[in-house]
Order: sequence, then C-alpha cells, then structure tokens
Amino acid sequence: MDSTNQSLKPLTAKLNEAGNLEIGGCDLVELVEKYGTPLYVIDEYTLRTVCADYKEAFKKYPKVNMMFASKALCTMGTSVILDSEGFGFDVVSAGEIYTVYKAGVDMSKVLFNGNNKSVDELSLALKLGVGRISVDNFFELSLLNEIAKSYDKTADILLRITPGIECHTHEYIQTGHLDSKFGFDLTQVDEAVELILNDYRNIKLHGLHAHIGSQIFETSIYGDEIEILVKELARIDEKFGLKLDEINAGGGLGVKYTDKDCPPSVYTIADIIINRLNECIEKYKIEQPALFIEPGRSIISTAGVTLYTIGSSKQVPKGKKYVAVDGGMADNPRPSMYGAEYSAQIVNKASAEPVENVTIAGRFCESGDILIKNIKLPELEEGDILCVYNTGAYNYSMASNYNRVQKPAMVLVNNSQSDMIVTRETLDDLIMHDKVPDRFKNK
Ligand SMILES: *Cc1c(COP(=O)(O)O)cnc(C)c1O
Repeated sequence: MDSTNQSLKPLTAKLNEAGNLEIGGCDLVELVEKYGTPLYVIDEYTLRTVCADYKEAFKKYPKVNMMFASKALCTMGTSVILDSEGFGFDVVSAGEIYTVYKAGVDMSKVLFNGNNKSVDELSLALKLGVGRISVDNFFELSLLNEIAKSYDKTADILLRITPGIECHTHEYIQTGHLDSKFGFDLTQVDEAVELILNDYRNIKLHGLHAHIGSQIFETSIYGDEIEILVKELARIDEKFGLKLDEINAGGGLGVKYTDKDCPPSVYTIADIIINRLNECIEKYKIEQPALFIEPGRSIISTAGVTLYTIGSSKQVPKGKKYVAVDGGMADNPRPSMYGAEYSAQIVNKASAEPVENVTIAGRFCESGDILIKNIKLPELEEGDILCVYNTGAYNYSMASNYNRVQKPAMVLVNNSQSDMIVTRETLDDLIMHDKVPDRFKNK
C-alpha cells in the first residue's frame, strides 16, 4: 500500500478556482499577502495522515512505540500535533527537550540522543524526567552515572550501537557504518554492560538502539538491523543473564524530493521490520521486546512547503538564467550542504505551461546559494510566488541567521484556516543578544 512519504506534494495541494495553488484549503497567494515571504507552511492534514500511516502499518506488532525525531522539525505547535497523535519524541539537545516540555509532552515518552551531550543537558533530562537516555559512548556512561548519583536518581538508558550497516545515502547522513562517530562498536558492548552491572549503580539498562542513516530507499537493511539488535539482546542475556526488553531501530525512511525519487512505502518497511523481528524472536529464543521506531524526515517533510517571492533575474549571455528568491541557504541549507534537489511550482501560475529552464538562486552572499539548479517553470516575473515542496524536514530546524537575515515565519494550514505557529523574526530579535561594552558608549 502507498504511504504519504511517497508523495511529492502535501496531500491537499491543488489548483483552485482562482487559478492559484492551494494547500489545506488556503490559497497560497492570499497566505503570502497575509504573512509575507519567505514562509514555511505546514499542512496539518498531511502530517496527521503520515502519523496514521505509521500507526496502521506497525499495528501488527503489539508492543510498538512511535517516536518523532524532533531534529527534523522542532516547534511547540508541531509537537502538540504529534503528541496528540500518540507519538513520543526523540530529542538531541536541551533546546529540543525544553520545546517538547513546554508543549506539554509527557516527558516519559521522550528519548534523549546524541554523541556529546553536555553535563547541563544530561542534568536537565534527569530533572525533567526524560524517559530514556540513549548513551553513545563510555565517557557519557560514566558521566551520566555521576550526574544521576548526585541527584540520587536512576538514569534509564539504551545503549546506542553501531550495527555496521552501510546504507546508500549521502555520506553526511550515513550513521550506521563501522567508523561512524555515533554509538558503541559491537565489540565494546560487553564492556559497557559489565560496567553498568558492576560499577554504575545509578544506571538502568533497558535495551539497545541503532539508527542507520537518513533518506534511505533500501528496504532490506532494516531487516538486517533488526537481526543485529535481537542477536545482541540474546547474547547479552546468555552472557550476563540480563534480559533487555527494548529495541529502538531508529528512523531514516526517505521521501520524494523530485520525480526521480522512489522511496519505499511505510507499509513495506513495517512489514520487513515486523516479519524479521518475529522471525528473530523465534530464532534467538527471546521474549518479545518493545519496538521503538523514530522517523523524522518521513513524518514531517511532505507536509511542509516554503513560499518565496521572485525578485531579480539574470540571463548570463549564452549561459544560464538565474532567478533570485528572497530566501535561500539560511532557511534551507540542504542544497548547498548536500547538493539536495527540490521540486517547485509557481503558485500564481499553477496551470501555466512550463516554458523556460531556470536556476533558482538564493539571496545570500555565497555562490553556492542555489536552491534549485535546473527547473522548467512558466515564464517568470518579479513578484511571482515560488512554492518549493518537501521542506518540512531539516529546513527550519537547520536554519540560520546568515547575513543577519530574519528567520521566516511558519504557518499551519488546515480546513481553509491558517495559524501562525512560528512568528517571523524581527530586526530587534536579531540584535536581542548583542551587547556593546560600556567603555564604548557615549563616544
Ligand atoms: C536523525 C535521527 C533520526 C531520524 O532520522 P530521519 O532520517 O529524519 O528519519 C532517528 N534517530 C536518530 C538517532 C537520529 O539521529
């Protein structure tokens, strides 16, 4: 069965009677008149449908827990929606912990991840009662034990392991290969378990965690990952008499950024994971563990688009035509960082024939600030509105204030209604943290 991550556009995207593109029943031209550009737009219907896909696909396994990987998009508004869908949260910083906490999330449904968590961050996690901490390395194991001891608490943890699986995605977003910066090598697991059992009295180990990468299109590697996790559970039980009852298989499922991308369905991935898990439970004779999965990109990417206003253009004699928009690498660093590709449409010319090949340039002072290298669009004029698809994940969450440009606003759309969920930064926001030393004043 198909799932929402296989769609290029939000599910509610359509051409309306005015001849404009609309999403969530909202005419995008009107949205721009109201909120300005650049503007992030999140379609609530698409987001909730993705959540429904995941829940439906995994319901065959009785002990399954969905966690949303917050680093893909972490705002209070979207966290409230995911919370209402029954998702937990995978977080990677004090900022993400604080955001979901303030959004009213039950902190026992939160897992704290990361390869170099600070003392302050670990302390905050313990203080707020974060459900699980995924410990990444020996240094952190000892540090966490000390901090937990000082609070007279027990830290409930998973061990993040490196399963030695290479997926064919961009090098920067591979995480499961053997020389990755993340997690314990399989040869180090025994030592970690011994330390926990013998020395680290303020740590309780519940299970194992792995995450093999991002924007993954291969399906079989999820099965291989599950087998490695289950095999380790069985081995730890046999060697230490310790029954661990949780496995976390991470996230990573891909989405469709352009027509060339054919990501697998959530239903296919779920079947592979659950079938292999059931086989492995038999094969390695373990009790049925709780299964955690933590998708990020495939939950939020398709629901999001970014709207830009087209400004200047430049025809290089006998060369490319550049068309510049009022955003770029600061609101979407992925093209300049990974060579990521995107699809787009002109909102106010949604039914017009594409006639010219152009390069969409950003407004930031780097030659590498190109949003889309080559795209065929209708004849463009200054003031046209460009809608870039699939920007819900790793856009706002990776945004910066490069060139001291304010970060865009974010609007949630549903049933013809729009609500601002992140306000546009103001010029005063930009200088809010600046201080001029007193000795430079009154001169
Ligand atoms: C980034 C990350 C995820 C989510 O990855 P997606 O590709 O966005 O699904 C899940 N788990 C961990 C540990 C991660 O670091």
